[in-house]
Order: sequence, then structure tokens, then C-alpha cells
Amino acid sequence: MTDHFDLIVIGAGSAARDAAGKAAREFGASVALIERTRWGGSCPNVACRPTKAYLVAAELAYTVNELSDWMGVRCGPAAVDLARVRAWKDSLRRTQESWQEVLAKAGYELVPGEASFVDARTVRVGDRELTAERILIASGSRTAVPRVPGIDAIEWIDHISALELEQIPESLLIVGAGPVGLEFAQIFARFGSRVTIVNHGPTSWSSRTPGSRATAATSSLTSNSARTSAASGPRATSRPARSSRRPPSTRPASRSRTCSARRARGTRTTRPCRPRSSPTPSSARSG
Ligand SMILES: Cc1cc2nc3c(=O)[nH]c(=O)nc-3n(C[C@H](O)[C@H](O)[C@H](O)COP(=O)(O)OP(=O)(O)OC[C@H]3O[C@@H](n4cnc5c(N)ncnc54)[C@H](O)[C@@H]3O)c2cc1C
Repeated sequence: MTDHFDLIVIGAGSAARDAAGKAAREFGASVALIERTRWGGSCPNVACRPTKAYLVAAELAYTVNELSDWMGVRCGPAAVDLARVRAWKDSLRRTQESWQEVLAKAGYELVPGEASFVDARTVRVGDRELTAERILIASGSRTAVPRVPGIDAIEWIDHISALELEQIPESLLIVGAGPVGLEFAQIFARFGSRVTIVNHGPTSWSSRTPGSRATAATSSLTSNSARTSAASGPRATSRPARSSRRPPSTRPASRSRTCSARRARGTRTTRPCRPRSSPTPSSARSG
């Protein structure tokens, strides 16, 4: 069976939805969306939205452990139950059925499955062939795996499987100090993991985060127990994400690691404590 459309979009993520919406609204185009994994794409399912949920939970733990005493609010140390945080994060997500409903209501033909090209105007999905005047490839990206010797022998995790963990890893090595790496560093450091960030090249995040913002980022991360390290080393290569991961050991967030505890014990440390001048948790800031 061959179906003809004005526009075929491969992928159903943010880019695909924007393009499909514009074509349909502004040009009255008939549109087919093809999706092989998750309707809605990465951002709402496994990227922007779930990581922001984790950031909120991590900030809550941080506020309780690091700021509450200073604010005069007495409460016990925060113990993060990652399985429940994960369940909460999942509850915020639109279901696949709901995505399909929304996209179908917008008037698109939804074609589940993997698209491959037959020719410049024809795409095959399973047994079905679709043709169109225009075909947009909005297939997104996938995890870039660094070419580190031995990496194939270990159970590494990526941003998708990290969001499926049910136990807080005792330690976490994050390769890459881009926005995603730093986001996960802050999340897991605040959850209680010992986090180390490795970034290749002589300049790490400072090249991406110019000036004072780089300093602020570094200072913020180190005050959240993340160790930072610039290393010369492997460049990234691309490989599909793997899903089965070895469960890491549990390590609950512990108040004994907080600044107030270290101050009370008189422990000397290179890790900076919360500044004594009016620190403001970001949730309390406006905007
Ligand atoms: C951890 C993380 C956090 C992020 N946080 C933010 C944030 O806070 N703010 C922000 O602006 N951006 C954020 N981003 C970036 C954002 O997620 C991406 O920019 C955005 O999802 C890209 O959308 P896209 O439509 O190009 O690709 P995607 O959303 O990845 O969609 C592509 C789709 O194409 C499908 N596909 C691929 N090949 C085929 C094929 N052959 N046949 C059928 N379907 C196919 C895939 O299954 C996928 O669903 C984050 C990214 C990550 C990883």
C-alpha cells in the first residue's frame, strides 16, 4: 500500500512537531509523522522534563541538608529514595497513548515504526510505503560514547538509563562537562553520590560557559561535592544507547557530609562550604 502526503516527517520529537505544525497550519499540508521509539521524542520523555524533575528533588534534598539549619528550620536529614523519585518523575510524563491522541487530533497521520528511504520521495515503514513532496529528517541525536579502552567491558549508563536507576550510586564518573553532564553532576551530588566529572581538553566547561558564569558553575558544583577534572583524552564516538545496567550500590544522602557537620567536627577540607553571606536557594529566587 502506498500513501501520498505533502510532508513526511521522520521522528516525532520537538523539531518534528514544530515543522509539522507549521506545515499544517500555514500551508494546509497533509503530514505523516513516523516514530520508532517514543512519541513526543526525547525532550518530554527522557531529557528536558525528567531531568528538571530530578533537579527539583535534588534541590529539595540540598535545601534540607545544607540550608535548613542555617535558616532556623529544624528537620531531619533528607534521605532520597530514588525509586520513589523516579516514580514521581514518571508520573509527570504524558503517556504514549496521550501523545498519540494529541498528535492525531492535530490531523497528522501517525505511523509507528522505523523509517528507511526507498528513494528521494519514498519512505518505507514495515510493509508500508509512503511518498511525499518533501521529507523532513528530524531524527534527533543519540548518546556519544567516548573511545576509551575497555569501555565495552563495563556497564556504563547514559542520560536515559541514569534516569531509570532505583538506587543512588555510591560514586558516579561523568564523562563530559556540557550542560547535560553538569546537570547530572549536580543532581547526583545532591542525592548523595560522590561525583567526579572528567572533560577532555585543557579547558573544560569554561570554554562553554564564559567568564563569571564558569566560575559560578565550578564553585556551585564543588560546593555540591562534585569533583572536577580536565583530562586530555578520547574524543567521542557515536553508538546506540544500551539499556540493561548493573544495579549500583546504595548510598543514602548523608547529613554527616554537610558543611555544618564538618564545621562541628572541625574537619579541614578543600571543599568549600556554603558562603556565610546570604545564600539563596534558587527555588526562592524570582524568575
Ligand atoms: C538529559 C538532557 C536534558 C536536556 N534538557 C534540555 C532543556 O532543559 N532544555 C532544552 O531546550 N533542551 C534540552 N535538551 C535537549 C533536547 O532534548 C533536544 O534538543 C531535543 O529533544 C531535540 O529534539 P529533536 O526533535 O531534534 O529530537 P528528538 O526529540 O530526539 O526526536 C527524534 C525522534 O526521531 C525518532 N527517530 C530517529 N530515527 C528514526 C527513524 N529512522 N524512524 C522513525 N523514527 C526515528 C527517535 O525515536 C526520536 O523520538 C536536553 C537533552 C538531554 C539529553
